[in-house]
Amino acid sequence: MGEINCDILVIGGGNAALCAAISAKENGADVVMLESSPKAWRGGNSQHTRNLRSMHYGPTDVLTDTYSEDEFFEDIYKVTKGQTNEEFARYVIKNTPEVVKWAKSHGVRFQGSFGGTLQLGRTNAFFLGGGKSLVNSYYKEAKKMGIKVLYEHEALSLDIQKEYIGVKVKDHANAQILNFKADACVIASGGFESNLDKLQEAWGKPAKNFLIRGTKFNQGKMLFALKDAGAKIIGDPTQGHMVAIDARAPKYDGGIASRVDCVSLGIVVNKEAKRFYDEGEDFWPKRYAIWGRLVASQEDQIGYSITDHKVLKRYMPPLFEPVVANSLDELADKMGLDAAALRKTVDEYNAGVVEGKFDHTVLDDCHTEGLEVNKTHWAQKIDTPPFYCYPLRPGVTFTYLGVKVTKEAAVVMENGEVCKNLFAAGEIMAGNILSQGYCAGFGMSIGSVFGRIAGREAAKSREQK
Ligand SMILES: Cc1cc2nc3c(=O)[nH]c(=O)nc-3n(C[C@H](O)[C@H](O)[C@H](O)COP(=O)(O)OP(=O)(O)OC[C@H]3O[C@@H](n4cnc5c(N)ncnc54)[C@H](O)[C@@H]3O)c2cc1C
Repeated sequence: MGEINCDILVIGGGNAALCAAISAKENGADVVMLESSPKAWRGGNSQHTRNLRSMHYGPTDVLTDTYSEDEFFEDIYKVTKGQTNEEFARYVIKNTPEVVKWAKSHGVRFQGSFGGTLQLGRTNAFFLGGGKSLVNSYYKEAKKMGIKVLYEHEALSLDIQKEYIGVKVKDHANAQILNFKADACVIASGGFESNLDKLQEAWGKPAKNFLIRGTKFNQGKMLFALKDAGAKIIGDPTQGHMVAIDARAPKYDGGIASRVDCVSLGIVVNKEAKRFYDEGEDFWPKRYAIWGRLVASQEDQIGYSITDHKVLKRYMPPLFEPVVANSLDELADKMGLDAAALRKTVDEYNAGVVEGKFDHTVLDDCHTEGLEVNKTHWAQKIDTPPFYCYPLRPGVTFTYLGVKVTKEAAVVMENGEVCKNLFAAGEIMAGNILSQGYCAGFGMSIGSVFGRIAGREAAKSREQK
């Protein structure tokens, strides 16, 4: 098979790739997009999202109040414990209002915010119909603009040359290998979170019990191809976003519905029926992202979130029904836990509870005292049957290992050279800003802002030839 020539080749089929493709086309280039999934599964992790974080001064049609650049940056600074690149982070933040406008101009619809366990109406713009609707809108726009999308086309390797970028591609539908030669290329193929072997290399054996919340197509092939081609890879392979999800969720694509949001209302025990962390340390939206790692560090990477009837209506019900029992012994039996051990844990916990004025909307004064692991807020006795249990497993959202880029989204090589015709956007370069921790909605902000820039710069790079 001979070479297939094109102006701009965009590798990926999620938000960042779509933003890059549309932006490149807008800037006068012809664009071919490669999506490794079949059409029905297009859109990567972006199809599972709900919102993007955006700064704004004063209420907008979709955001309440104000959210300044400084406050946004402080939020990023806090969650990353200072491990962020301020220049890059502020660059993304400043570009968010413009990117919301741009998304709207290309068919994406937003909705007014509503309450829920993660109340983000002030800071995050919600996509009407969720991420699937967002990617469908962009695909529709791409088609209208004449962007060629090839499904089931998986990029395998890269040949980085000054004059062109060569990409070897597997066309899965026709079981053939194709060779693309592009004037410029944007890589927006996500992280490597779906690659179980690579997760195991980073995490060791525990990785076999991880569930992947998003697409199975983010295998990291392009990330590792970039490394093989001499690009500078940054970040720690064990860093990323990991939450505790229902252990009964599928291996891939469980999405947000498998998240369990009642942790702060009860207790969480491990396989030995022992508590291991303060379930009431802070508001759930500020803590949900640490529980994936906490469960990952327990034996067999399993946890059990236990509550009683008192709090049943106080959290958003997840996709899976809880396991229900009229006594703790029965609950232990159903979950395969040692009944005596569970009773002891609950008895000790109940004895430690210092009753206060329960209020889940503030950091209330209901806490425990005298326990090895105290609960600092929302501690109520677990004493009102029926009792409920959700089994928990670590759910990987995305990984941070990425490729170094400039503010123009250009790929930086190991020797410091900046590629003039190779760009990266989205999850694959999010590690330039996020090296640990996460702030809800920032993934889509990074992908949208850098996707747009990457597409524009790729188109511009042709003109400079
Ligand atoms: C359940 C869930 C909920 C989330 N909710 C939010 C949210 O509300 N807000 C938010 O900001 N973030 C959220 N995130 C994170 C968000 O999904 C990512 O930050 C964002 O989607 C990254 O966009 P992307 O385009 O870089 O990657 P993706 O959307 O994952 O797209 C990567 C694409 O590349 C394709 N691909 C991979 N390898 C190849 C290859 N070799 N060749 C060709 N194509 C390839 C994949 O098929 C896929 O289409 C959520 C993630 C999950 C899993």
